[in-house]
Amino acid sequence: MDARRYNFSSGPAVLPEPVLRRAQDALWDLDGTGIGILEHSHRGAAFERVLARTEAAIRRVGGIGDDHAVLFLQGGASSQFFMVPMNLLGGGTADVCDSGIWAQKATAEAKRFGEVHVACAGANTTPSWSASPTYAHYTSNETIGGVQWREPPTPPDGVPLICDASSDIFSRPLDFDRHALVYAGAQKNLGPSGVTLVIIRRELAERGSRDLPPMLQYRTYVAERSMYNTPPTFGIYVIGEVVAWLEAQGGIPAITAHNAAKARALYDFLDGSPLFQGAAPAGARSMMNVTFRTTSPALDAKFLDEATAAGLDGLAGHRSVGGMRASLYNAFPLAGVEALVAQMADFERRHG
Ligand SMILES: *Cc1c(COP(=O)(O)O)cnc(C)c1O
Repeated sequence: MDARRYNFSSGPAVLPEPVLRRAQDALWDLDGTGIGILEHSHRGAAFERVLARTEAAIRRVGGIGDDHAVLFLQGGASSQFFMVPMNLLGGGTADVCDSGIWAQKATAEAKRFGEVHVACAGANTTPSWSASPTYAHYTSNETIGGVQWREPPTPPDGVPLICDASSDIFSRPLDFDRHALVYAGAQKNLGPSGVTLVIIRRELAERGSRDLPPMLQYRTYVAERSMYNTPPTFGIYVIGEVVAWLEAQGGIPAITAHNAAKARALYDFLDGSPLFQGAAPAGARSMMNVTFRTTSPALDAKFLDEATAAGLDGLAGHRSVGGMRASLYNAFPLAGVEALVAQMADFERRHG
Protein backbone atom coordinates (compact mmCIF):
# COMPACT_ATOMS: atom_id res chain seq x y z
CA MET A 1 0.00 0.00 0.00
CA ASP A 2 2.96 2.37 0.15
CA ALA A 3 3.53 2.29 -3.60
CA ARG A 4 2.61 5.75 -4.82
CA ARG A 5 2.13 6.19 -8.55
CA TYR A 6 3.44 9.00 -10.71
CA ASN A 7 0.42 11.30 -10.84
CA PHE A 8 0.27 13.42 -14.00
CA SER A 9 -3.26 14.63 -13.22
CA SER A 10 -4.12 18.19 -14.26
CA GLY A 11 -5.92 18.89 -11.00
CA PRO A 12 -6.53 18.02 -8.28
CA ALA A 13 -2.91 17.06 -8.64
CA VAL A 14 0.26 15.82 -7.01
CA LEU A 15 1.27 17.47 -3.73
CA PRO A 16 4.67 17.42 -1.97
CA GLU A 17 5.00 14.21 0.04
CA PRO A 18 6.34 15.94 3.19
CA VAL A 19 3.24 18.15 3.13
CA LEU A 20 0.95 15.13 2.98
CA ARG A 21 2.76 13.60 5.97
CA ARG A 22 2.46 16.79 7.98
CA ALA A 23 -1.21 17.11 7.05
CA GLN A 24 -1.80 13.57 8.33
CA ASP A 25 -0.44 14.61 11.70
CA ALA A 26 -2.37 17.89 11.67
CA LEU A 27 -5.64 16.05 11.10
CA TRP A 28 -5.06 14.45 14.49
CA ASP A 29 -3.39 17.31 16.32
CA LEU A 30 -2.68 20.76 14.86
CA ASP A 31 0.53 22.31 16.20
CA GLY A 32 0.29 20.47 19.54
CA THR A 33 -3.14 21.92 20.36
CA GLY A 34 -4.74 18.52 20.96
CA ILE A 35 -7.35 19.33 18.31
CA GLY A 36 -7.16 18.48 14.61
CA ILE A 37 -7.17 21.08 11.83
CA LEU A 38 -10.61 19.89 10.63
CA GLU A 39 -12.02 20.41 14.14
CA HIS A 40 -10.66 23.84 15.07
CA SER A 41 -12.97 26.86 15.09
CA HIS A 42 -11.96 29.36 12.45
CA ARG A 43 -12.32 32.05 15.15
CA GLY A 44 -9.81 30.42 17.48
CA ALA A 45 -6.17 31.35 18.01
CA ALA A 46 -4.85 28.14 16.42
CA PHE A 47 -6.52 28.79 13.09
CA GLU A 48 -5.68 32.50 13.30
CA ARG A 49 -2.03 31.43 13.38
CA VAL A 50 -2.53 29.16 10.36
CA LEU A 51 -4.17 31.96 8.38
CA ALA A 52 -1.48 34.47 9.35
CA ARG A 53 1.44 32.19 8.49
CA THR A 54 -0.16 31.09 5.20
CA GLU A 55 -0.68 34.69 4.11
CA ALA A 56 2.84 35.64 5.22
CA ALA A 57 4.41 32.75 3.30
CA ILE A 58 2.45 33.63 0.15
CA ARG A 59 3.61 37.24 0.43
CA ARG A 60 7.27 36.24 0.92
CA VAL A 61 7.36 33.67 -1.88
CA GLY A 62 5.39 35.83 -4.32
CA GLY A 63 7.05 39.13 -3.38
CA ILE A 64 3.58 40.56 -2.73
CA GLY A 65 3.46 43.94 -0.98
CA ASP A 66 0.78 45.59 1.11
CA ASP A 67 -0.91 47.33 -1.85
CA HIS A 68 -2.41 43.92 -2.59
CA ALA A 69 -4.71 41.91 -0.35
CA VAL A 70 -4.27 38.13 -0.21
CA LEU A 71 -7.69 36.46 -0.06
CA PHE A 72 -9.04 32.92 0.24
CA LEU A 73 -12.37 32.41 -1.52
CA GLN A 74 -14.51 29.44 -2.49
CA GLY A 75 -16.36 28.54 -5.69
CA GLY A 76 -13.27 27.73 -7.74
CA ALA A 77 -11.54 29.79 -10.39
CA SER A 78 -14.77 29.40 -12.36
CA SER A 79 -16.52 31.73 -9.90
CA GLN A 80 -13.86 34.36 -10.60
CA PHE A 81 -14.94 34.25 -14.26
CA PHE A 82 -18.16 36.05 -13.19
CA MET A 83 -17.03 37.69 -9.95
CA VAL A 84 -14.45 39.79 -11.79
CA PRO A 85 -16.87 41.38 -14.29
CA MET A 86 -19.72 41.48 -11.75
CA ASN A 87 -17.60 43.64 -9.47
CA LEU A 88 -15.55 45.59 -11.96
CA LEU A 89 -17.06 45.79 -15.44
CA GLY A 90 -20.21 47.86 -14.82
CA GLY A 91 -21.25 48.03 -18.49
CA GLY A 92 -17.74 48.93 -19.68
CA THR A 93 -15.51 46.99 -22.05
CA ALA A 94 -13.38 44.04 -20.96
CA ASP A 95 -10.40 43.42 -23.20
CA VAL A 96 -9.68 39.71 -23.20
CA CYS A 97 -6.91 37.54 -24.54
CA ASP A 98 -8.26 34.38 -26.11
CA SER A 99 -5.60 31.75 -25.54
CA GLY A 100 -7.88 28.73 -25.25
CA ILE A 101 -10.75 27.05 -23.48
CA TRP A 102 -10.32 28.64 -20.03
CA ALA A 103 -9.99 32.13 -21.46
CA GLN A 104 -13.14 31.50 -23.50
CA LYS A 105 -15.05 30.44 -20.40
CA ALA A 106 -14.00 33.64 -18.63
CA THR A 107 -15.03 35.64 -21.70
CA ALA A 108 -18.50 34.09 -21.82
CA GLU A 109 -19.13 35.24 -18.24
CA ALA A 110 -17.81 38.76 -18.87
CA LYS A 111 -20.38 39.18 -21.66
CA ARG A 112 -23.15 39.03 -19.04
CA PHE A 113 -21.91 42.27 -17.49
CA GLY A 114 -20.66 44.45 -20.33
CA GLU A 115 -18.89 44.56 -23.66
CA VAL A 116 -16.04 42.26 -24.58
CA HIS A 117 -13.25 43.06 -26.99
CA VAL A 118 -10.99 40.17 -28.00
CA ALA A 119 -7.60 41.89 -27.94
CA CYS A 120 -5.45 38.90 -28.82
CA ALA A 121 -6.03 35.52 -30.37
CA GLY A 122 -3.49 33.16 -28.85
CA ALA A 123 -0.86 33.37 -26.14
CA ASN A 124 2.27 35.43 -26.90
CA THR A 125 0.56 37.34 -29.69
CA THR A 126 0.61 41.13 -29.75
CA PRO A 127 -2.63 42.54 -28.34
CA SER A 128 -4.72 45.11 -30.11
CA TRP A 129 -6.44 46.95 -27.26
CA SER A 130 -9.80 48.71 -27.53
CA ALA A 131 -10.12 52.51 -27.10
CA SER A 132 -10.76 52.46 -23.34
CA PRO A 133 -10.86 49.06 -21.70
CA THR A 134 -12.16 48.85 -18.13
CA TYR A 135 -9.68 46.05 -17.55
CA ALA A 136 -7.64 43.48 -19.47
CA HIS A 137 -7.91 39.75 -18.72
CA TYR A 138 -5.63 36.90 -19.74
CA THR A 139 -4.98 33.27 -18.78
CA SER A 140 -1.29 32.80 -18.05
CA ASN A 141 -1.39 29.07 -18.67
CA GLU A 142 -4.05 27.17 -20.62
CA THR A 143 -4.25 23.89 -18.74
CA ILE A 144 -6.16 22.05 -21.47
CA GLY A 145 -4.28 23.22 -24.56
CA GLY A 146 -0.89 23.25 -22.86
CA VAL A 147 -0.23 26.84 -23.94
CA GLN A 148 1.50 29.45 -21.75
CA TRP A 149 2.32 33.14 -21.93
CA ARG A 150 6.07 33.82 -21.69
CA GLU A 151 5.52 37.36 -20.40
CA PRO A 152 2.24 38.99 -19.36
CA PRO A 153 0.61 41.16 -22.03
CA THR A 154 1.02 44.90 -21.41
CA PRO A 155 -2.26 46.84 -21.45
CA PRO A 156 -2.36 50.64 -21.91
CA ASP A 157 -1.28 52.72 -18.88
CA GLY A 158 -3.76 52.70 -16.05
CA VAL A 159 -5.75 49.70 -17.33
CA PRO A 160 -5.93 47.03 -14.60
CA LEU A 161 -4.40 43.73 -15.71
CA ILE A 162 -6.20 40.62 -14.45
CA CYS A 163 -4.77 37.12 -14.68
CA ASP A 164 -6.19 33.64 -14.28
CA ALA A 165 -3.04 31.91 -13.00
CA SER A 166 -4.77 28.74 -11.81
CA SER A 167 -2.33 26.31 -13.34
CA ASP A 168 1.00 28.12 -13.15
CA ILE A 169 0.94 30.33 -10.06
CA PHE A 170 4.21 30.06 -8.12
CA SER A 171 5.74 27.84 -10.82
CA ARG A 172 7.85 30.75 -12.14
CA PRO A 173 8.24 34.49 -11.46
CA LEU A 174 5.10 36.62 -11.69
CA ASP A 175 5.29 40.37 -11.15
CA PHE A 176 2.29 41.03 -8.92
CA ASP A 177 2.91 44.79 -9.09
CA ARG A 178 2.03 44.64 -12.79
CA HIS A 179 -1.27 42.94 -11.95
CA ALA A 180 -4.36 44.43 -10.36
CA LEU A 181 -5.85 41.00 -9.70
CA VAL A 182 -4.48 37.46 -9.93
CA TYR A 183 -6.66 34.47 -9.13
CA ALA A 184 -5.96 30.76 -8.96
CA GLY A 185 -7.91 27.68 -7.97
CA ALA A 186 -5.66 25.92 -5.47
CA GLN A 187 -5.95 22.39 -6.82
CA LYS A 188 -3.34 22.69 -9.61
CA ASN A 189 -0.24 24.01 -7.92
CA LEU A 190 -1.11 25.16 -4.40
CA GLY A 191 -3.13 22.64 -2.44
CA PRO A 192 -6.52 20.90 -2.39
CA SER A 193 -9.65 21.87 -4.30
CA GLY A 194 -12.12 24.13 -2.54
CA VAL A 195 -9.98 27.26 -2.13
CA THR A 196 -9.34 30.01 -4.64
CA LEU A 197 -6.45 32.32 -3.97
CA VAL A 198 -7.21 35.93 -4.98
CA ILE A 199 -4.50 38.58 -4.90
CA ILE A 200 -6.12 41.94 -5.52
CA ARG A 201 -4.96 45.53 -5.34
CA ARG A 202 -6.84 47.01 -2.39
CA GLU A 203 -7.82 50.09 -4.35
CA LEU A 204 -9.43 47.91 -7.06
CA ALA A 205 -11.45 45.99 -4.48
CA GLU A 206 -12.71 49.34 -3.15
CA ARG A 207 -13.79 50.42 -6.62
CA GLY A 208 -16.02 47.33 -7.07
CA SER A 209 -19.81 47.39 -7.21
CA ARG A 210 -21.68 47.81 -3.91
CA ASP A 211 -24.91 46.43 -5.39
CA LEU A 212 -23.98 42.82 -4.76
CA PRO A 213 -24.48 40.38 -1.90
CA PRO A 214 -21.51 40.81 0.46
CA MET A 215 -20.26 37.31 -0.34
CA LEU A 216 -19.78 38.42 -3.95
CA GLN A 217 -17.91 41.67 -3.22
CA TYR A 218 -14.12 41.56 -2.99
CA ARG A 219 -14.16 44.35 -0.39
CA THR A 220 -15.94 42.06 2.06
CA TYR A 221 -13.05 39.59 1.98
CA VAL A 222 -10.50 42.39 2.23
CA ALA A 223 -12.22 44.01 5.21
CA GLU A 224 -12.76 40.70 7.02
CA ARG A 225 -9.43 39.07 6.06
CA SER A 226 -11.32 36.20 4.34
CA MET A 227 -13.22 35.58 7.59
CA TYR A 228 -16.62 37.16 6.82
CA ASN A 229 -17.99 33.63 6.95
CA THR A 230 -16.30 30.28 7.58
CA PRO A 231 -13.33 30.06 5.24
CA PRO A 232 -12.06 26.74 3.81
CA THR A 233 -9.84 26.11 6.82
CA PHE A 234 -8.23 22.82 5.79
CA GLY A 235 -7.42 24.09 2.31
CA ILE A 236 -5.82 27.22 3.74
CA TYR A 237 -3.75 25.07 6.09
CA VAL A 238 -2.49 22.89 3.22
CA ILE A 239 -1.67 25.91 1.04
CA GLY A 240 0.40 27.25 3.92
CA GLU A 241 2.34 23.99 4.12
CA VAL A 242 2.81 23.82 0.34
CA VAL A 243 4.13 27.36 0.16
CA ALA A 244 6.44 26.74 3.16
CA TRP A 245 7.71 23.65 1.33
CA LEU A 246 8.25 25.75 -1.79
CA GLU A 247 10.22 28.29 0.24
CA ALA A 248 12.39 25.50 1.68
CA GLN A 249 13.13 24.29 -1.87
CA GLY A 250 14.63 27.70 -2.62
CA GLY A 251 11.46 29.56 -3.60
CA ILE A 252 10.50 30.69 -7.10
CA PRO A 253 14.05 30.74 -8.59
CA ALA A 254 14.71 27.12 -7.60
CA ILE A 255 11.30 25.81 -8.61
CA THR A 256 11.52 27.62 -11.96
CA ALA A 257 14.75 25.77 -12.75
CA HIS A 258 13.25 22.46 -11.58
CA ASN A 259 10.15 22.96 -13.73
CA ALA A 260 12.23 23.97 -16.75
CA ALA A 261 14.35 20.82 -16.45
CA LYS A 262 11.25 18.62 -16.34
CA ALA A 263 9.57 20.32 -19.30
CA ARG A 264 12.80 20.32 -21.32
CA ALA A 265 13.27 16.56 -20.85
CA LEU A 266 9.82 15.87 -22.24
CA TYR A 267 9.83 18.45 -25.07
CA ASP A 268 13.29 17.32 -26.17
CA PHE A 269 11.99 13.79 -26.49
CA LEU A 270 8.90 14.96 -28.41
CA ASP A 271 11.03 17.01 -30.81
CA GLY A 272 13.09 13.95 -31.71
CA SER A 273 10.24 11.48 -31.89
CA PRO A 274 8.85 10.12 -35.15
CA LEU A 275 5.72 8.88 -33.36
CA PHE A 276 4.83 11.37 -30.61
CA GLN A 277 4.08 14.98 -31.52
CA GLY A 278 3.70 18.00 -29.26
CA ALA A 279 0.21 19.50 -29.58
CA ALA A 280 0.95 23.14 -28.64
CA PRO A 281 2.51 25.78 -30.93
CA ALA A 282 6.30 25.77 -30.39
CA GLY A 283 6.42 29.42 -29.27
CA ALA A 284 3.78 28.96 -26.59
CA ARG A 285 4.55 25.59 -25.04
CA SER A 286 3.54 25.25 -21.41
CA MET A 287 6.06 24.28 -18.75
CA MET A 288 3.20 22.94 -16.62
CA ASN A 289 0.95 20.96 -18.96
CA VAL A 290 2.68 19.20 -21.84
CA THR A 291 0.13 18.09 -24.47
CA PHE A 292 1.00 15.52 -27.12
CA ARG A 293 -0.40 12.76 -29.28
CA THR A 294 0.63 9.86 -31.50
CA THR A 295 -0.44 9.41 -35.09
CA SER A 296 -3.90 8.00 -34.22
CA PRO A 297 -6.50 8.00 -31.46
CA ALA A 298 -6.26 4.19 -31.35
CA LEU A 299 -2.51 4.32 -30.62
CA ASP A 300 -3.11 7.10 -28.07
CA ALA A 301 -5.53 4.80 -26.25
CA LYS A 302 -3.07 1.91 -26.35
CA PHE A 303 -0.28 4.11 -25.00
CA LEU A 304 -2.51 5.36 -22.19
CA ASP A 305 -3.49 1.82 -21.20
CA GLU A 306 0.13 0.69 -21.07
CA ALA A 307 1.29 3.80 -19.23
CA THR A 308 -1.42 3.38 -16.60
CA ALA A 309 -0.44 -0.28 -16.15
CA ALA A 310 3.18 0.86 -15.70
CA GLY A 311 2.27 3.22 -12.85
CA LEU A 312 2.05 6.45 -14.85
CA ASP A 313 -1.34 7.85 -13.97
CA GLY A 314 -3.57 10.67 -15.23
CA LEU A 315 -2.00 11.10 -18.69
CA ALA A 316 -5.23 11.26 -20.72
CA GLY A 317 -5.78 14.62 -22.41
CA HIS A 318 -8.84 16.69 -21.48
CA ARG A 319 -12.01 15.00 -22.72
CA SER A 320 -12.63 17.88 -25.15
CA VAL A 321 -9.31 17.47 -27.00
CA GLY A 322 -8.15 13.86 -26.47
CA GLY A 323 -4.52 12.84 -26.87
CA MET A 324 -2.21 12.96 -23.86
CA ARG A 325 -1.32 15.57 -21.28
CA ALA A 326 1.46 15.37 -18.71
CA SER A 327 0.92 17.90 -15.93
CA LEU A 328 4.25 18.72 -14.32
CA TYR A 329 3.33 20.96 -11.40
CA ASN A 330 5.85 22.04 -8.76
CA ALA A 331 5.55 18.88 -6.66
CA PHE A 332 5.98 16.54 -9.63
CA PRO A 333 9.42 14.87 -9.57
CA LEU A 334 11.95 14.77 -12.42
CA ALA A 335 12.14 10.98 -11.96
CA GLY A 336 8.49 10.80 -13.04
CA VAL A 337 9.29 12.61 -16.29
CA GLU A 338 12.21 10.26 -16.90
CA ALA A 339 9.90 7.28 -16.34
CA LEU A 340 7.42 8.75 -18.85
CA VAL A 341 10.11 9.37 -21.46
CA ALA A 342 11.37 5.79 -21.05
CA GLN A 343 7.81 4.49 -21.47
CA MET A 344 7.35 6.60 -24.62
CA ALA A 345 10.68 5.47 -26.08
CA ASP A 346 9.77 1.84 -25.50
CA PHE A 347 6.32 2.32 -27.05
CA GLU A 348 7.89 4.04 -30.05
CA ARG A 349 10.26 1.11 -30.61
CA ARG A 350 7.31 -1.26 -30.72
CA HIS A 351 4.88 0.93 -32.72
CA GLY A 352 6.94 3.61 -34.47
C1 LIG B 1 -8.80 24.39 -13.63
C2 LIG B 1 -8.86 25.76 -14.18
C3 LIG B 1 -9.97 26.60 -13.99
C4 LIG B 1 -11.23 26.14 -13.29
O1 LIG B 1 -10.99 25.93 -11.95
P1 LIG B 1 -12.15 25.48 -10.95
O2 LIG B 1 -11.49 25.67 -9.62
O3 LIG B 1 -12.48 24.06 -11.27
O4 LIG B 1 -13.33 26.36 -11.14
C5 LIG B 1 -9.91 27.88 -14.51
N1 LIG B 1 -8.84 28.33 -15.17
C6 LIG B 1 -7.76 27.55 -15.38
C7 LIG B 1 -6.59 28.10 -16.12
C8 LIG B 1 -7.74 26.24 -14.90
O5 LIG B 1 -6.66 25.47 -15.09
